[in-house]
Amino acid sequence: MTTNLLDYGLKGLSDFCVEIGEKPFRAKQLMRWIHQFGITDFVDMSDLAKSLREKLTAVAVIESPQITSDHVAADGTRKWLLAVGAGNGIETVFIPEANRGTLCVSSQVGCALACTFCSTGKQGFNRNLTVAEIIGQLWIANKTLRETSYNCDSDANRIVTNVVMMGMGEPLANFENVVTALDLMLDDHAYGLSRRRVTVSTSGLVPAMDRLRERCPVALAVSLHAPNDSLRDQLVPINKKYPLEVLLAACQRYLTAAPRDFITFEYVMLDGVNDSLAHARELVELVRDVPCKFNLIPFNSFPGSGFKRSSSAAIEVFRDVLMQAGYVTTVRKTRGDDISAACGQLAGQVKDKTRRTAMNARVHAVK
Ligand code: SAH
Ligand code: SF4
Repeated sequence: MTTNLLDYGLKGLSDFCVEIGEKPFRAKQLMRWIHQFGITDFVDMSDLAKSLREKLTAVAVIESPQITSDHVAADGTRKWLLAVGAGNGIETVFIPEANRGTLCVSSQVGCALACTFCSTGKQGFNRNLTVAEIIGQLWIANKTLRETSYNCDSDANRIVTNVVMMGMGEPLANFENVVTALDLMLDDHAYGLSRRRVTVSTSGLVPAMDRLRERCPVALAVSLHAPNDSLRDQLVPINKKYPLEVLLAACQRYLTAAPRDFITFEYVMLDGVNDSLAHARELVELVRDVPCKFNLIPFNSFPGSGFKRSSSAAIEVFRDVLMQAGYVTTVRKTRGDDISAACGQLAGQVKDKTRRTAMNARVHAVK
């Protein structure tokens, strides 16, 4: 059995070194080769003893998901479709901007939380991604951005400086693997990103928000999308389990350990559903006690969604109400339109839902 070293954080890699009769500190050396230099062949790890390189070659591999497609949009946004077995695929998007490069990373194949306006949610849940598949997205992005010529403004735009866990899936529903991947993103021997530049986006899994605060507090974005429980129950079904009052209290607790002194509330703008003046005013009242910023996301349509994007005028009025109440509010630019690389459009491929079917069968069996 070969071991995929991309599946390990520092602790796992140290344990692995001990298992094969090496000193645990070798883990840091290995981490640099794997994550900073993107090396896959142990023979090339020139500061390791030849005997160790041979041993590693015999028992281990460094294996990321395979790239199925790689598209660059007119605005420089780049999207990779990655194969993760059984006909399933996930998507990763790189968004270059003047002063940063943001990678949007997926955490699951599909999503069980079934938000009604989300194409990932509509596809249902297949499985959690492994650590190798999550950190592999950053590994692949760094490697390919380095190696391929690319119509970006400058070299500075070809570096991943920020990660947002806003691709397919609910990161906090795949807690252990996501946290191990986050640890690697932050580790100076791996990617060395600042905690403030790594953001987890959640639809509001309250107990896991508390665990994240304890284990690995990074920047937090919360998908609010509605100013009251009755509307949020419809749009984000997990709200029935963790309603707004409970969710906002969890946000307050998170802030005691967060690297930033605000929570980002995401709010998808759905025409005639959650975008009225009254909704904006209700939202201002709702978040009164939580230091926060808003990110309004114009709805990205997909076939059969049943929703429409709010008009630019409605979005502007909504934003003005929040701004006048003192909240920093941004409207997310729609990037990579020509390659369907925007939020909620990361359809990927969820072909094999056998697990979901099996899970449902079990649920019915115990009822
Ligand atoms: N599961 C996490 C993160 C992934 S989605 C979450 O729900 O927060 C990242 C953001 O895109 C979330 O705010 C999500 O609600 C939003 N989103 C989903 N579908 C969308 C769509 N079709 N148009 C615009 N935003 C969408
Ligand atoms: Fe899952 Fe997030 Fe989509 Fe909701 S919005 S279904 S939590 S990926």
